[in-house]
Amino acid sequence: MRLAVVSDIHANREALEAVLESISDAGFDKVVSLGDLVGYGVDFDYCIAAVSERADVSLMGNHDAAAAGTDSPAGSMRQMNPHARKSAEWTIKNLSVEQKNYLSNLEMSHSEDGLLFVHSAPTSPGEWDYISDWTSAAVHLGSFAEHLCFVGHSHIPGIYFEDEGCRHTGEGEVKLPSEQRAIINVGSVGQPRDGDPRACHIILDTVKETVEFIRVSYDIQKAAEKISMAGISEFLARRLFLGI
Ligand code: ZN
Repeated sequence: MRLAVVSDIHANREALEAVLESISDAGFDKVVSLGDLVGYGVDFDYCIAAVSERADVSLMGNHDAAAAGTDSPAGSMRQMNPHARKSAEWTIKNLSVEQKNYLSNLEMSHSEDGLLFVHSAPTSPGEWDYISDWTSAAVHLGSFAEHLCFVGHSHIPGIYFEDEGCRHTGEGEVKLPSEQRAIINVGSVGQPRDGDPRACHIILDTVKETVEFIRVSYDIQKAAEKISMAGISEFLARRLFLGI
């Protein structure tokens, strides 16, 4: 089976369109979205519609929870920096009732065939912990029964193997040894933060036992202009060009 996994689209239509095209070109059996459909960008309309139509599994991220008003006691909105909070407030103001309902009904995690999918981390997904390095991955590696766990949230792609091997893979194919459990951070479609501004997604091939990190160029200028025009935050527009 070839599984396309996307995360952290963040209402970036231009990035999502480019990634959906890339997924079609790569060939896939299923699409899984790990959440954060909204926040930062302005095209929540397109992104919610495209994911609800195309994804076989669609999970909840902290920005989705904030926009839908279903924050956990940890308070996803309160944890946000001022730029993120401003964009969340803008999103809440503009979402329709149907869109809020769609977001509030998203699942927190999904498990199938030895694969676990979650937005932030396998231990208490609603606490929104970040996995972006070996130390943060080690805390969670013992907390799930599945062979592989796929996460997003930090926007930093990488694979964290159980034997303390850590590979920060920004791009390219990696063999997954069948005896090794791992956490795989799939990076971000709409707001990459590993210094590479291109959209990121992965393809897992369960027969070849490989995961491929694929980077896709998209029209950053257009996405950034829309954020500026909406008056959300110049910083959120500028960071797209830098991938930070
Ligand atoms: Zn995110």
